[in-house]
Amino acid sequence: MASQMIREWAGINQFPTATQDKLLGLLGRLKQENVSTMTILVMGKGGVGKSSTVNSILGERVAAVSAFQTEALRPMMCSRTRAGFTLNIIDTPGLIEGGYVNEHALEIIKRFLLNKTIDVLLYVDRLDSYRVDNLDRQVVKAITEAFGIDLWRRGLVVLTHAQLSPPDGLSYDEFLSRRSEAVLRIVRLGARIRKQDFQNHPIPVVLVENSGRCDTNELGEKVLPNGAVWLPNLVEKITDVISNGTKPILVDKKLIEGPNPNERGKIWIPIILALQYFFVIRPIRQGISDDINQETRPLWELRDMGLADRRY
Ligand code: GDP
Ligand code: MG
Repeated sequence: MASQMIREWAGINQFPTATQDKLLGLLGRLKQENVSTMTILVMGKGGVGKSSTVNSILGERVAAVSAFQTEALRPMMCSRTRAGFTLNIIDTPGLIEGGYVNEHALEIIKRFLLNKTIDVLLYVDRLDSYRVDNLDRQVVKAITEAFGIDLWRRGLVVLTHAQLSPPDGLSYDEFLSRRSEAVLRIVRLGARIRKQDFQNHPIPVVLVENSGRCDTNELGEKVLPNGAVWLPNLVEKITDVISNGTKPILVDKKLIEGPNPNERGKIWIPIILALQYFFVIRPIRQGISDDINQETRPLWELRDMGLADRRY
């Protein structure tokens, strides 16, 4: 029933023909791999360009974009179909409020995602930022605690505002590589991914420029300062992640309700108490009562009890 209501992905027609061809080619590749539906989850801090990226991918304005961080509080899923393929893309509110991870926002996102299957995570940040800090790490940590470390095997780091002029003395590619390194490091630390695992399965970094003023090439496709045609490149990287042999993430009750690190181990408490009773408390009690029984009572005590001969 629901699928009948999903609208045609008409926004794809807005793209230049060259981009359309590449995108349809990638959808064809997915269909060959028997993937006929794909759900993309978009997360990150507020104001980094999550909603704009959703709109850029779909080629239509479905998510509200705001320059002043007055974001919607609820996640939003938009579904489109094209040639038998269904694309679901979920925009989420920023996870930071007042300098902390907004646990309430995270709870709402969890409930929204319940029983959905996530094929790809887009972790969005800006390319034109010069630092990462503990807050970034907290955001990654919160995402990982909510949905599990395996989500990162289905993850991409998306850096928006990619049409930038790097500060003096740095080339675009140099700036890009340093910024990517810094964000990836924060993801690794925040998600507590082992260095070796991270090297074996690197998380791809992709660039996005959502501005209408993005440069275009002779085919009308949006290009970055390094000449990359970013939209087909983003969709290609998404396709690669889907085909990387890992399983999509089913967000079920078990995943989001347990095992919270704070709760972990609680099940052992009654067992430890029982073991303590049988192996510590009972033997001690037994020992004490044996001692009492074996004790030879002093004469004065026996006398007080009327058991001793009064002559002594
Ligand atoms: P969200 O809070 O993460 O959903 O971010 P929005 O998509 O609402 O974007 C926040 C602001 O950044 C808006 O004013 C957007 O127009 C702007 N913005 C988003 N992405 C880009 C980008 O790639 N380049 C430029 N120049 N501006 C962007
Ligand atoms: Mg938004």
